Amino acid sequence: MGTLSAPSSHSKTSRTRTSERPHITELPMTWRNWWKYADWLNVYFVVIIPLIGCYWAWFTPLQTKTAIWAIIYYFNTGIGITAGYHRLWAHTSYSATMPLKIYLAAVGAGAVEGSIKWWARGHRAHHRYTDTDKDPYSVRKGLLYSHIGWMLMKQNPKRIGRTDITDLNEDPLVIWQHKHYIPVVALMSLIFPMSVAGLGWGDWKGGFIYAGILRIFFVQQATFCVNSLAHWLGDQPFDDINSPRDHVLTALVTLGEGYHNFHHEFPSDYRNAIEWFQYDPTKWAIWTWKQLGLAYDLKQFKSNEIEKGRLQQMQKKLDRIRAKLDWGIPLGQLPIIEFEDFQEQARNGKALIAVAGVIHDVGDFIKDHPGGGAMINSGIGKDATAMFNGGIYNHSNAAHNLLSTMRVGVIRGGCEVEVWKQAQQENKDISFVNDSTGARIARAGAQVTRIPEPIIPAQPA
Ligand SMILES: [Zn+2]
Ligand SMILES: [Zn+2]
Repeated sequence: MGTLSAPSSHSKTSRTRTSERPHITELPMTWRNWWKYADWLNVYFVVIIPLIGCYWAWFTPLQTKTAIWAIIYYFNTGIGITAGYHRLWAHTSYSATMPLKIYLAAVGAGAVEGSIKWWARGHRAHHRYTDTDKDPYSVRKGLLYSHIGWMLMKQNPKRIGRTDITDLNEDPLVIWQHKHYIPVVALMSLIFPMSVAGLGWGDWKGGFIYAGILRIFFVQQATFCVNSLAHWLGDQPFDDINSPRDHVLTALVTLGEGYHNFHHEFPSDYRNAIEWFQYDPTKWAIWTWKQLGLAYDLKQFKSNEIEKGRLQQMQKKLDRIRAKLDWGIPLGQLPIIEFEDFQEQARNGKALIAVAGVIHDVGDFIKDHPGGGAMINSGIGKDATAMFNGGIYNHSNAAHNLLSTMRVGVIRGGCEVEVWKQAQQENKDISFVNDSTGARIARAGAQVTRIPEPIIPAQPA
């Protein structure tokens, strides 16, 4: 259910009966039963009536006053959903005084998206079970499904995730609106907007079609975008474990609900956009109501917490870029070689150089060495730690990075490197900085070949 069809409470007998018979969604779809899959009431209200409205609009001239009124009422009913149904009732991100609550419950009903109770229950399930089978509008089932399909198709009530709505059941206004949903929605979605245009400037028909039917259609499609577009288009600055995304386009369409990655991370924050320049008119409305004494207890996450999430996500992205680069064979995977063997191999023509206990094969690099071939040749078969770290030339960070890609072995007893490797084999706890994928990070200037203080060479070069 989703639009005009506020759910009625099931009796005990109907509950037993439904649990005995398999739900239609559990049966295979055939030519005979396909029509049973559709929620026809919703198909009628979300698709057929708007189509009839478009047809009528063709024969109904649009008066300027009616157009302005339709737009004004569009924003009011939209705010009813975003500031009312969503941020006030589903997330309790602020508290509202009774006059404001009555206004939001009334204009929210004018958007024809079900009762507050029904809407908030589904939305809480969406947050609790995002992207899973229990998410009533999971984008994993397709963009169209998350936008509108979930309402046009019958949903298996056993599948929808359970959520706690005791607070809503204790809210007399929510209960009243749920009980009297049909008359409330008829009044607020059609009769009221039509009467304003009719009594105001005599345009009853235009008021009914433009401020009523077509305005409902646009509000519905815009707010449905939060379930579809906001889980599909944009960035994920706070977390990428699930589908919610931030995008200005979605925000423009949905009265500021488009910063949806932030919203799923900090759902009880009354804001969706945290920067002053981002478009979040719902936030501005709530803030203004606070200044007018209509709203209070606006909840806001500490910027320290928000920035931590943003930084961690940035780190994750960096790690992904880092993982694509060649950092040389990890030290733990290199063979351990005796110093004598290393010297022997170098004598036999291999261009091996040891720096900080790590053996490097520089054969292919000699001709490209910026300091000339002679310099690099003088280090072959030797421990060139001191030469490399300032004895002859204090090599740059880039040089250490490049050197690491030439690693071929580790010398037994070669400085800390072999000690570290030994400890790894013995399963001792040695802490190194690891990225989010578990790979060891070499920070700028922190390659293993780099010796912090330049070493004074034993013999002047
Ligand atoms: Zn969402
Ligand atoms: Zn939400």
